[in-house]
Amino acid sequence: MKTKVYFPGPTAVRENVRNMRAVETTNPDMDPAFYALYGQLGKDIGRIFGTDDKVLVLSGEGILGLEAACASLTEKGDRVLVLDNGIFGEGFADFVRMYGGSPVLFSGDRRNAIDPEALEEFLEKDHDFKYATLVHCDTPSGVLNPLDRICPLLKRYGILTVVDAVSSSGGEPVDAKRNGIDICLGASQKAFSAPVGLTFLSVSEGAFEAMEKRETSIAGYYVNLLSFRHGVENQWFPYTMPVSDILGLRQAVDNILEEGILAFQERHRIIGEAVRQAVLASGLHLHLESGFSNTVTAVEIPAGFSIESLIDHMHREKGLLLSGSIGYLKNKVLRIGHMGENAKVEEVASVLKILEEALAHFEVPMEAGLRGHFLQGVGRMEKDLP
Ligand SMILES: *Cc1c(COP(=O)(O)O)cnc(C)c1O
Repeated sequence: MKTKVYFPGPTAVRENVRNMRAVETTNPDMDPAFYALYGQLGKDIGRIFGTDDKVLVLSGEGILGLEAACASLTEKGDRVLVLDNGIFGEGFADFVRMYGGSPVLFSGDRRNAIDPEALEEFLEKDHDFKYATLVHCDTPSGVLNPLDRICPLLKRYGILTVVDAVSSSGGEPVDAKRNGIDICLGASQKAFSAPVGLTFLSVSEGAFEAMEKRETSIAGYYVNLLSFRHGVENQWFPYTMPVSDILGLRQAVDNILEEGILAFQERHRIIGEAVRQAVLASGLHLHLESGFSNTVTAVEIPAGFSIESLIDHMHREKGLLLSGSIGYLKNKVLRIGHMGENAKVEEVASVLKILEEALAHFEVPMEAGLRGHFLQGVGRMEKDLP
């Protein structure tokens, strides 16, 4: 039985992406065509991010992007505002500390999006920060923070903004330029649906300037964003670029552009909303009260019931792998990832059918079927489309 994985990343990889990673390559260091490919890929990722800022693609998992942003911006003693309403949000404090900065946490309720009004009140009293970090979708709970209200507010105080949009970008609009995001971070294995291994970041002129103006040099080689800044113009990168990974990502980005960025996001919106409607109709509970990302849904499982045994059962009997969560949400929520190649109506419907049968097997009381309500929800929303 082939295992179907419905994690909030890594997501399924389409055949044309897998094939592209197998084509014969040249030496990317020496091949002008590679620099053209890299430059154009950056521009196209920028379109998905909603910015014409320079986009760098680096070899490394999504975490590398987070670390590179903090390493490149942080100098000893810098105060950094860490907006936290989840595990990734809080985690930025570790990167800031590791590079000598002093993180100041602004912690929000973990069941809701960060409240811009509370943040505004906080900033009125204290706004002496070099930059702020914010997670768009904090994946362990799936909470989505309102970039359009938070980032412009930080900008008003002259604070640079670093946004982790790893598990949202593509599926959710980021609008990096309009929102004033200085560094926007993404990764290959979430909604972009390329294999794990690449991180990409848009970097504003303001952020590059802050790096250039440092008094001390950046503590790291591969995490030094300045060393990649002019790679395309100078036809030189300090390290050999992972050409096969980049070709795969190129195809994955083409898949999104071919569908259309707005259509791609609309597909996520419909599926995300319909999944939530189905969960509520079934009598199960959503973990969050507000701020739902359309890329992942965290469902609360009744107390006293083992999520691990539910996940095991679905894996053994149906070859479906769903994910629990981590940290404070371990054994509290079950997560359904519905992003990128996994955000397909028929497939999500079959996932929900397996889940509903497994819940019945464990005698979890339910009021209505997940699959049926999901499909009804999708039908209603598709009818309303222009
Ligand atoms: C996936 C993800 C990352 C990358 O880290 P992993 O090692 O894949 O967990 C970073 N930030 C967010 C919000 C993510 O969802």
